[in-house]
Amino acid sequence: MSDKLQRFIFEKLGVRGQLLQLDDGFKEVLLKHEYPLTVRKMLGEILASAVMLSATIKFAGAVTLQIQGDGVLSLLLAQCDGKQQFRGLAKWDGEVPGDFSEAVGSGQLVITLNVEKTAENYQAVVEIKGKSLSQAIESYFDESEQLPTRLWLFVGETKVCGLLLQVMPGDDSYEEDAFSRIAELAEAIKPEDFALNSLVLLHQLFPEDDVRVLGETSVCFHCHCSRERSEQALKMMPKEEREEILAEHKVVTVNCEFCNQVYEFDREDVGDLSK
Ligand SMILES: [Zn+2]
Repeated sequence: MSDKLQRFIFEKLGVRGQLLQLDDGFKEVLLKHEYPLTVRKMLGEILASAVMLSATIKFAGAVTLQIQGDGVLSLLLAQCDGKQQFRGLAKWDGEVPGDFSEAVGSGQLVITLNVEKTAENYQAVVEIKGKSLSQAIESYFDESEQLPTRLWLFVGETKVCGLLLQVMPGDDSYEEDAFSRIAELAEAIKPEDFALNSLVLLHQLFPEDDVRVLGETSVCFHCHCSRERSEQALKMMPKEEREEILAEHKVVTVNCEFCNQVYEFDREDVGDLSK
């Protein structure tokens, strides 16, 4: 299992955590578009964040994280469903600086939760704060959710590793000092540590604490696009516009921005849509 998420908890401290590794899945995302190195790094970070946050929610559903800025890097988007299947993309125009704040400029962090099999969703839109994506997410949880959270993200050429620590929601037994102490110990983590067995790594980071390892989940890249969903998108297009494209190109195409899949609809298919 190359792409995996390991959950753990500090039972006595009311703190939970996750260790994440993305390998094959990240490679698949990188194959879809040619991303400059600087964008690759930030895309890896947002993908890992979305995967880890998706594993913190109680209901079956999907998490979408978006960074929308006025900088050269105008969009970073990552989505992960309840089965830890993720996808993501980035949009930029020009040379993207390596510094997060400089690349995205000022803008918003948008967090959306979609509850599976219902139309229910929750969305939070907050100003991007901090010098990195992890700081922006941490500040959202501290200020909007009152849920102290820390994230460590490492992006290599084709690999992403992450560590998350978060106070258990609704657990009053947690002590601020204990969380700060654990977070301080976690600062010692290095990207190469993720090659260790999770138990060994956790013991190395938190030798004095009682850490209970919970389940390990496999994580993978998956795009939810389909011909049916593309048809829905086409139905939303004004009829005149569809007709114009058909007259000129004989087919209307719908491109999936996430995976580059192209869905083609000819006159006959489009005729069916108006029914
Ligand atoms: Zn797709």
